[in-house]
Amino acid sequence: MATYDYLIVGAGLFGAVFAHEAKKAGKRCLVIDKRSHKGGNIYCAEVNGIRVHQYGAHIFHTDNKEVWDYVNRLVEFNRFTNSPLANYEGRLYNLPFNMNTFYQLWGVKTPEEAKEKISVQRASYAPIQEPANLEEQAL
Ligand SMILES: Cc1cc2nc3c(=O)[nH]c(=O)nc-3n(C[C@H](O)[C@H](O)[C@H](O)COP(=O)(O)OP(=O)(O)OC[C@H]3O[C@@H](n4cnc5c(N)ncnc54)[C@H](O)[C@@H]3O)c2cc1C
Repeated sequence: MATYDYLIVGAGLFGAVFAHEAKKAGKRCLVIDKRSHKGGNIYCAEVNGIRVHQYGAHIFHTDNKEVWDYVNRLVEFNRFTNSPLANYEGRLYNLPFNMNTFYQLWGVKTPEEAKEKISVQRASYAPIQEPANLEEQAL
């Protein structure tokens, strides 16, 4: 019967990295998962030739060079630029907010013009002391 140093429950990022490092250190690991695939929440399935995130979209970001070098030793990354757009009542807006968003909203072209618009709008809202949702929090 096979014997192991570690039984790792969960083949997500944590379990996979732990197993990888433990094996490098000479340990024998058994990784089990209740799902039928590896990867945990970052798992992608191939659908019509496109890799689709099964548990919500994931992008990898780090400003830690050691982490970046580590993951690049394990997998090849797709080049990716995060440029989300919001569709509000059929019109597209850049998010997170930047000068393009303010131009799309109000046609303003400078930070000063945007600040002026924001201060007029801010004055027209009564402050919400205990926001009940994200929209109220943003307001
Ligand atoms: C919608 C969404 C979007 C996200 N976006 C990002 C992002 O853009 N960038 C980012 O860095 N992070 C993101 N995250 C967070 C990221 O998914 C997690 O930090 C990471 O997947 C955690 O890895 P993990 O191994 O700890 O857990 P998981 O990935 O959850 O893996 C745990 C595994 O353990 C298994 N398991 C649990 N209990 C048992 C059991 N009793 N028996 C057997 N198996 C078990 C599960 O099936 C699962 O496969 C996002 C998370 C979600 C949900």
